[in-house]
Amino acid sequence: MTSGTGRTTWVYEFSQGSKDQKDLLGGKGANLAEMTNLGLPVPPGFTITTDACRYYLEQGSTPPDLADQVTEHLSALEKAMGKTLGDPADPLLVSVRSGAAASMPGMMETVLNVGLNDESVRGLAAQSGSERFAWDSYRRLIQMFGKTVLDIDGELFAHALDEVKREQGTDSDLDLDAAHLEDVVGRFKAIVAEQCGRDFPQDPREQLDLAINAVFDSWNSERAILYRRRERIPGDAGTAVNVVAMVFGNLGPDSGTGVAFTRDPGSGAQGVYGDYLQNAQGEDVVAGIRNTVPLPELERIDKGAYDELLRTMERLESHYRDLCDIEFTVERNKLWMLQTRVGKRTAAAAFVIATQLVDEGLIDMDEAVRRVTGDQLGQLMFPRFVSGGDAQELTQGMNASPGAAVGKAVFSSETAVEWAGRGEKVVLVRRETNPDDLAGMIAAEGVLTSRGGKTSHAAVVARGMGKTCVCGAEELTVDTAGKKFTAPGGTEVTEGDVISIDGSTGKVWLGEVPVEPSSVVRYFEGEIDPESDEADDLVRSVHRILTHADSRRRLGVRTNADTPEDSARARRFGAQGIGLCRTEHMFLGERRQLVEKLILAEGDDERQAALDALEPLQRQDFLEIFEEMDGLPVTVRLLDPPLHEFLPDLTDLSVRVAVAEAQGHPDEANLRLLAAVRRLHEQNPMLGLRGVRLGLVVPGLFAMQVRAIAEAAAERRKAGGDPRPEIMIPLVGAVQELEAIREESERVLAEVAEARGVDVPALIGTMIEVPRAALTAEEIAQSAEFFSFGTNDLTQMTWGFSRDDVEAAFFHAYLDKGIFGISPFESLDLDGVGRLVQIGVEGGRRARPDLKLGICGEHGGDPDSVHFFHEVGLDYVSCSPFRVPVARLEAGRAALGAERAGS
Ligand code: PEP
Ligand code: MG
Repeated sequence: MTSGTGRTTWVYEFSQGSKDQKDLLGGKGANLAEMTNLGLPVPPGFTITTDACRYYLEQGSTPPDLADQVTEHLSALEKAMGKTLGDPADPLLVSVRSGAAASMPGMMETVLNVGLNDESVRGLAAQSGSERFAWDSYRRLIQMFGKTVLDIDGELFAHALDEVKREQGTDSDLDLDAAHLEDVVGRFKAIVAEQCGRDFPQDPREQLDLAINAVFDSWNSERAILYRRRERIPGDAGTAVNVVAMVFGNLGPDSGTGVAFTRDPGSGAQGVYGDYLQNAQGEDVVAGIRNTVPLPELERIDKGAYDELLRTMERLESHYRDLCDIEFTVERNKLWMLQTRVGKRTAAAAFVIATQLVDEGLIDMDEAVRRVTGDQLGQLMFPRFVSGGDAQELTQGMNASPGAAVGKAVFSSETAVEWAGRGEKVVLVRRETNPDDLAGMIAAEGVLTSRGGKTSHAAVVARGMGKTCVCGAEELTVDTAGKKFTAPGGTEVTEGDVISIDGSTGKVWLGEVPVEPSSVVRYFEGEIDPESDEADDLVRSVHRILTHADSRRRLGVRTNADTPEDSARARRFGAQGIGLCRTEHMFLGERRQLVEKLILAEGDDERQAALDALEPLQRQDFLEIFEEMDGLPVTVRLLDPPLHEFLPDLTDLSVRVAVAEAQGHPDEANLRLLAAVRRLHEQNPMLGLRGVRLGLVVPGLFAMQVRAIAEAAAERRKAGGDPRPEIMIPLVGAVQELEAIREESERVLAEVAEARGVDVPALIGTMIEVPRAALTAEEIAQSAEFFSFGTNDLTQMTWGFSRDDVEAAFFHAYLDKGIFGISPFESLDLDGVGRLVQIGVEGGRRARPDLKLGICGEHGGDPDSVHFFHEVGLDYVSCSPFRVPVARLEAGRAALGAERAGS
């Protein structure tokens, strides 16, 4: 800011700021200012702005007039305190604390007790009446200053302190008296002289200036840079510096330090929560030197300070209209507030507190919706492990799909189905899963794999089903043939041993860890009436907040479901239709043989016979789904994956054929199959013959699917139902591909309508999942009544990342190096893939203003991505059934202008 005289204001008195100035004053400075203005007991001080920090970092020196402004504010501070910085007789001491706009806990530096030197240490001793306290404060200053400002290895100080303790035959600081600590100071000063070639600075002002610059510099420490990259905090924001008069909690039993919450951050319950440590400084609490006592004990220790603290907490909460967390110090029975901020809380507490605040009249329901997040709701929807039990922790893999699963380890899909069929709970353990494992995954409580990342088959399918999954547990050696796995340390787990897996943390145990089901899911399932006594505070809050979010959102929410069960569940969870019904699983199991016949067909008749056999089965699939989704749109996507995925593995089959030949009785059928598998084998199947390409190359395949859809719709209509099919063509890159399939589909629809004597209206549209489709959306929209963005493939093809491999292969390195903070397969890459979505939306709507627009990739259930889809103007998002409530909430939050978590 520039004042009327043209001078930039680099320094603000606490009384000049407010909580809304975080960008300029940092979070700590802004809140200290706010508390000062509320008349709360904040030690006097001032804040040097983030602007000053940026100037310093850019120019390599402080702004020319910064020193003068610091002098002015220091004088005011000295006047307020009635003391002078470093005065030999009665020194004012200050702390120099970092504080950026975004919270970066522990990433930057702080120096306490600035102003102490060889003379003022004696003044402090005289004033405080404690020689020990004074020398201890001095040694803390040299230690912190040495490390932070002078860049001396902290170990040297720690060793020197240990040495003195050893000489005194103790391992506790508290056993050292004033003389010992004076000795420590001497040794520390010697370390400084030796390491820096200069004495520890005795001039208090020099100490202050150097400390300020060191805090500026700490913005660019390696750990701070890495933290910012991961948390997506802008690298050029800079930190503010707070210079605050020191108050001491370590002056004796009438002093102390503590932390407090205005409500329980664990459950949201109202009450007095926090900890207190008598005769200590904040850093002693962190160091865990002595045990703290629960905050209510302070009432007994110091009733006056306690009562004032409670009044202050009430004041802060009604002012901030939220749960606050607080750091405070009591110096000789006098309460001082050192920090406050809106406090972190658990997911359950976030919901409960938001509605409590509504009931207390502090916020309205719109604000309550803004105050909770989809991630928090997601956390509340999984069963949880409760502590206890004596299970043995084996390893930690990737937390691919949250939840808690306990069951007997089984190593094949067949065993999972068989054992589950007889009522056993099982966990399916595989090196990795493939579409063949689907039945086993459905039967199992959870899935554990030793390979694959968060978008591996196991992870995607498990998330879709709301099934617990830990994947990429690379320390486990899985031997499926031997029906066992080996954990680090050699523990062997064989088929039938009970294991527990936690999909929220990735942990794996041998043995049973106790679990409890989620009450929030029971509410969504309709098992708990939110108005009844069975509903607890959490269920009531979730109900109120989601109902309100629904009334505010513009985005529709559909689901990705391809079974009647999933469709029904999604509908109970609030889905307004199906945005993606994948038809591939309908070609597995017993139907696989029909697919083989289709591929091996010699001539039209054989091919048609195979298609004719598949059609009634498909029709039945759709019939059941249309029934569950009666009156709501159901987008059926025609077959997408390459055909060879439905055929046996090339190596397995080659071995079988070779063995049969060696034994002298070659198997004709297998030989033909092998030839087909070889013919269809692709080096890059994801970029090969799949989606619309398959529909164009295999005659009759898509027509059969469309016929099954139309027949099912006709049958439902005749039965008085209201089916609303939408036919979706995958992997289109050029309008000509779509036109060809569209013509064929329209012909089939007309034929069925004619034959059945009922109208079977169906929209025909396409996925936009190839970059070329987004870029040519205007042409494609001429032939499409709707677009659905397939952001999984769009991400794969935009980045050139194989979605099956890269997460396990090298994403951890990318995340460690901060190249991105989150996988672009999890949360949409707005700058790249998002740009293509936007181009697709604009092009599509130019050609066809009433074009329906949706998204059905995994991102449809990702909170940050939902905000983007709202902003870019889509009509709906579609996600797995368990993400439906999350998407409803985030769509409401987006409409209410709530911030994205990642912004
Ligand atoms: C997509 O690519 O985003 C999509 C929804 O299709 P699939 O994941 O089945 O390839
Ligand atoms: Mg796709």
